[in-house]
Amino acid sequence: MIAEVIINSIAKDLNKEFHYIIPEEMEEKAKIGCRVYVSFGRMKSLEEGFITGILKESKYATKKIEAIKEQELTENNIKLAKLMARRYFCNVSDCVKLMLPPGTLNKDIKLRAKEKTGNFVYLKKDIEEIEFEIETGKVKNPKQIRTLNFLVDNDGTHISDLEVLVDIKRNTINTLEKNGYIEIIEQKIERNPFKNKEIKRDEPLKLTDEQEKAFNNVKECIEEKKYKEFLIYGVTGSGKTEVYLQLINEVIKKGKKAIMLVPEISLTPQMVNRFIARFGEKIAVLHSKLSIGERFDQWQKIKNDEVSIIIGARSAIFAPAKNLGIVIIDEEHDLSYKSDTNPRYNAKDIANYICKTNNIPLVLGSATPDINTFYNTKNNKIELLKLSKRATGSKLPDVTIVDLRNELANGNNSIISNELYKKIEENLKNKYQTILFLNRRGYSTSVMCRECGYVMKCKNCNITLTYHMNEDKLKCHYCGYEMRNVKKCPGCKSEKIKYFGIGTQKLEEEIKKMFANVTTIRMDVDTVSKKNSHENIINKFKEENIDILIGTQMVVKGHHFPKVTLVGVIAADSSLNIDDYRASERTFQILTQVEGRAGREKLPGYVIVQTYNPDNFSIEYAKKQDYDLFYNTEILLRKQLKYPPFCDIILINVSDRDNNIARKVTEQIYSNLKENQNMSVYRPQPSPINKIKNKYRWRIIIKCKLNNNIINELTEAVNIPKLYKTTRIIVDVNPNNMS
Ligand code: ADP
Ligand code: ZN
Ligand code: ZN
Repeated sequence: MIAEVIINSIAKDLNKEFHYIIPEEMEEKAKIGCRVYVSFGRMKSLEEGFITGILKESKYATKKIEAIKEQELTENNIKLAKLMARRYFCNVSDCVKLMLPPGTLNKDIKLRAKEKTGNFVYLKKDIEEIEFEIETGKVKNPKQIRTLNFLVDNDGTHISDLEVLVDIKRNTINTLEKNGYIEIIEQKIERNPFKNKEIKRDEPLKLTDEQEKAFNNVKECIEEKKYKEFLIYGVTGSGKTEVYLQLINEVIKKGKKAIMLVPEISLTPQMVNRFIARFGEKIAVLHSKLSIGERFDQWQKIKNDEVSIIIGARSAIFAPAKNLGIVIIDEEHDLSYKSDTNPRYNAKDIANYICKTNNIPLVLGSATPDINTFYNTKNNKIELLKLSKRATGSKLPDVTIVDLRNELANGNNSIISNELYKKIEENLKNKYQTILFLNRRGYSTSVMCRECGYVMKCKNCNITLTYHMNEDKLKCHYCGYEMRNVKKCPGCKSEKIKYFGIGTQKLEEEIKKMFANVTTIRMDVDTVSKKNSHENIINKFKEENIDILIGTQMVVKGHHFPKVTLVGVIAADSSLNIDDYRASERTFQILTQVEGRAGREKLPGYVIVQTYNPDNFSIEYAKKQDYDLFYNTEILLRKQLKYPPFCDIILINVSDRDNNIARKVTEQIYSNLKENQNMSVYRPQPSPINKIKNKYRWRIIIKCKLNNNIINELTEAVNIPKLYKTTRIIVDVNPNNMS
């Protein structure tokens, strides 16, 4: 017999199945999904792979399988991986990795639950850089290569786990650290999520009429073993989670399992506690903050049927749950469900596929649904279940829009309008808490010479550097490049350096100047580091009763702050001015969510939105908190301009250290596609950020309805001769980001 085998290698031209003879003694063991070792090409060592098919005969098979392990993946896993590889233009082996236990090796990993902190190893260079240095032979030592390859998939592995799993000694790690490839960070070990927890059990609440209706509709599908997709659309606090809990209860009663996806950032202990309170400890939690040993442990628990509920971020959709009864995706509009790295999958698509093949319901939930999802409720692909009121009866906050143009005209050129100033003052007096939201970190967003107009830019990327005052440094937010701040213009030597744009650092400084004795805490990428989690900042804000929380996007996600009565949006325009067809949708979602942070309990909430575009419909409708109005306007624009949901957007991104090569390859792809009648292919253009990390970037945008023919044609078109070895071509289907 013959096995079709995929090779687990990062090399991009290996996206093929190779034929190997199955030796007689292995015939019984050989099944689709078995891990095998084979000799491949001119490589001396054996390569690892997976059996993806079994054939009676093949004229291509000349070599035999050298070693085989127990079946680790199901036939369905392999089928899904193959579908994904086609749909998302990547290797089958990349997709298979998502379905294997973390770490993927079978060696025992010692759990480090008793220790309080540990040393974790993180990559310091970015993945492309590392792959390039391995390809070009700059890194040659096989142990170092193994370690780096392992970290590409498992960044942040405990140092002792790394030694066991990759079979290396400390000196390999030390060398890599010395040469700047990795860094070792001491970190708190997240304890087993259930250790030492005394959580009071609670009982299901009596559902409101609307909740009851939503519950019954989904329950019917559970009873009848039917696939159907639902959207529970309800403002924050309308009781969506209570409905999820009761649905999961139905599923568990039938001896089945539930997967619940949440955005990574809202996977907090408080959220998990709600599930523990209802269901006890039959829960597995999967997220990136767990050590690899803990993730491995959770994975095994799922595989061994020891849990009934799996809560996790995007990749938890691949958890090896047998006998699944429901999949729930909370905050379904969240961008984190779409992967920005290879494989560039969307967990919502995968969930849909899994629910269909298992004949079970898929439940999406949101207060501000994705436009595409809501469109599908209109054409009956998704059933809409609406919760129109807050379950506790607390009112939505009062929203005021402040036109910043008037502030300027009235002589106030501070970043805080008079209205917001008064409200903050009042809040401080009453000892209530305030959140100020600004979606730009750093101090100033650009630094320019007033004499000659020279703008400080990153030496690796075509992007302006941001001034960070605390360290007196200029930083690139794309590649991490940083330099000392300049006192003189590098162009004309003038000392007239001016700082433009306001980031969270400067906002914090200004607030401290304006209000004596105010206490503040800041939450953005700069304060949320690997050591200092977002969780800690939230707790500190709550427990130490800090007056004002200042933050970026991170502050808007699902937190519950009983004492926050005022939310100020410093610049609502920042998400409107992005070069993306979803700019209005993003703005509406962010504003609505920020508004949802105020007045969640007894105290009434108040929101002030500062903007230069008070008449923009996404700002106007966010003020009214009226999603339907927003949707009706937005969908007309999408239709007129032919954007999703009326088509799919495919982004082809080509990058190379040589601008000419990148351009040439892009043009070649374009000429392969431009005659195609079924796509609108836009001319090659430099990407909006045309250089990142010393690689020049070109792009082609395609609008089409993605189907099998188009996938074939695109696959063909990007298959450029290997002449251009250094060129990276990425095909991203409905990407999060167009730049
Ligand atoms: P969402 O997930 O939509 O934000 P939650 O399910 O978290 O809403 O509910 C918000 C608050 O309302 C919670 O404190 C919850 O306990 C309460 N709640 C939900 N459903 C009910 C109900 N049927 N009766 C009373 N309180 C409820
Ligand atoms: Zn840069
Ligand atoms: Zn100058």
